[in-house]
Amino acid sequence: MFLKMKMFSCPEEFCKRTFMKYGNLLKHLDIGKHSKPKMTQNLSDRTKVLYSIQIENKVVKYTYVNALTVDSTDTSKFPKGWALKLKRELKKFTQSQKNFMTDKFEIGERSGQKCDPDDVSTLMRSVKDEHGRRLFKPVEFLSTSQIASFFSRLALKKRKTSLQEYSEEDQDAENDAVNFRHLTDLANV
Ligand SMILES: [Zn+2]
Repeated sequence: MFLKMKMFSCPEEFCKRTFMKYGNLLKHLDIGKHSKPKMTQNLSDRTKVLYSIQIENKVVKYTYVNALTVDSTDTSKFPKGWALKLKRELKKFTQSQKNFMTDKFEIGERSGQKCDPDDVSTLMRSVKDEHGRRLFKPVEFLSTSQIASFFSRLALKKRKTSLQEYSEEDQDAENDAVNFRHLTDLANV
């Protein structure tokens, strides 16, 4: 379904910009003109935004959030089927997937020739280890948009001044948030 569409979402919190081309997403990240959240959102929209902030930060850092108590485990606020849908779309990257993508991303950064997620997706299907065995099973192959989403988050992290350790937890939390944003984008179409 939507993973097959070449739609790349900005990984920045709140920002709802999506791009048909990965290169345009990177340009957008360079320029840094992210869309701002609308203040006219109704309560349920706000709750969704807060929820995604919570996922992204694990700990709620935004003071205004204190006005509303959002229990991240309480999904009853969300439309029926939402949680199911999210679960189905959520796939955690394995360590070897992450290593592979990070490696390709870093090569792209160093050479100045950005690595094309499309190429990485194709390469994943044939790449072998030193013993000539396939590095990835078919079930581990990633789509262009999954790779682009991972890349764009690496790119965003790189551009953030407070470069912190990219921990496993952050990674998973961000996967949640990105998947969540895809769904809300779909819901808003
Ligand atoms: Zn953005």
